[in-house]
Amino acid sequence: MSIPKEVIVAGGGIVGMNCAIELQRHGCSVTVVDPRAPGDGCSFGNAGNIVAGAVVPFSMPGNLLKVPSWVLSPYGPLSISLRHLPRLAPWLLRWLKASHPTNVRHISRAMHALHRETFDLYLPLMRELGEPDLIRRVGQLYVSRHPRGAEGHALSRALRTEAGIRFEAVSGGQIQDIAPALSKTYCSGIFFPHNGFCANPHRLVQVLAGALVSRGGRIQRDALVGVERSPSGEGTAVLKSGARQRYDGLVIAAGVWSSHLAALFGARVPLEAERGYHVTLPQSGISLNLPVTNYDLSISVTPMEMGLRITGGAEFAGLNAKPNWHLADRMLDLGAMTFPGLERSGASKWSGMRPSTSDGLPVLDRAPGERKVIFAFGNGHYGLTEAPMMAKLVKALMMDEQPSIDISPYSVSRFGRS
Ligand SMILES: Cc1cc2nc3c(=O)[nH]c(=O)nc-3n(C[C@H](O)[C@H](O)[C@H](O)COP(=O)(O)OP(=O)(O)OC[C@H]3O[C@@H](n4cnc5c(N)ncnc54)[C@H](O)[C@@H]3O)c2cc1C
Repeated sequence: MSIPKEVIVAGGGIVGMNCAIELQRHGCSVTVVDPRAPGDGCSFGNAGNIVAGAVVPFSMPGNLLKVPSWVLSPYGPLSISLRHLPRLAPWLLRWLKASHPTNVRHISRAMHALHRETFDLYLPLMRELGEPDLIRRVGQLYVSRHPRGAEGHALSRALRTEAGIRFEAVSGGQIQDIAPALSKTYCSGIFFPHNGFCANPHRLVQVLAGALVSRGGRIQRDALVGVERSPSGEGTAVLKSGARQRYDGLVIAAGVWSSHLAALFGARVPLEAERGYHVTLPQSGISLNLPVTNYDLSISVTPMEMGLRITGGAEFAGLNAKPNWHLADRMLDLGAMTFPGLERSGASKWSGMRPSTSDGLPVLDRAPGERKVIFAFGNGHYGLTEAPMMAKLVKALMMDEQPSIDISPYSVSRFGRS
């Protein structure tokens, strides 16, 4: 085992901060570099679902036929900017390729490997940090208005069964018992007893950041903009402020901004900004103990510390496009369709960009030609769920240990050469 002494983690979101804590725990002196405060990127406002049993990829057979209705329906989940479409086209083609049944099975297995241990890693960490209630393994409910609708595609059912995911089909009165405030029109449900949620995703990152600093780590408000190599092979990070910082190990965990940093090492990663939205209602009038996903409307409703959060939307408009707040307002309508008694006043709105690869799998790999520069980004819809396992694998790569799972599905070379 070789322990790099000075490690820089570029990006202080949920992925970077989990990596930082894990590397610090194993003897590294860690500096997190981020132009924003910890957790102010995509990790701020997600739905909080921790989905140990998520094994159904986003790209599934038949998706192409659904795209028109997703885009054209007034409450559809997908929006694509026409101006961005030419740049998005190659990514979309790869996304369609990922939906081939052979690829779906491969992606599903790779998802399961990253998700199945999430609570085993999070829960002891939360106890250690004195926050045992921040992550709750209380189950998750999917619902639909259509008979057996929540079960989804036959292939989805097969993937869950093959992975040994525990779930119970529920209907009518059973759904009302689990979530009494739900509209009675939701007749089909699946309950996943081994999933759960984080009661405040932003505070989770702050708790990790606080622990890092209290244990001697550093958080530096700056941005990584370049790297230099001395003839003896020593690495130096060049920061936006002009500062230069030597490192023995470097982790690129800058979420949707990571492809620019990967390019510093000659890697080409087609990463799309997939914008999502939330509204959080401090006094929603809805009593709910577990997260509910409305399968028909593609929204999540989660009981957070700050109130009820309704989350959804997948908008492809490019990294620099401004949020379309109309899509956040839509969350209120969709929430009220799901929970008829919803009290809308005092809603706070947010939008953030998922770092999305076309196959839905993250990049977890060494940078080309580097042993101690690790890419850890591209977690799309599951960054909160995947972060602790990403950290465990980053630590293994950084220490030259054998990773506990096969990491070849997350390789950077799967996108081809630059
Ligand atoms: C609406 C919505 C709902 C979601 N729901 C869920 C869910 O229920 N469950 C789940 O598991 N996941 C969910 N996700 C996905 C999850 O939130 C993301 O995958 C995750 O937050 C990504 O974390 P990250 O640390 O990679 O990125 P971020 O949180 O975006 O952090 C990246 C950081 O890198 C910093 N950075 C940028 N450039 C540089 C640079 N040059 N140098 C240094 N730092 C830099 C940024 O400032 C930022 O702080 C959801 C996402 C959205 C949008």
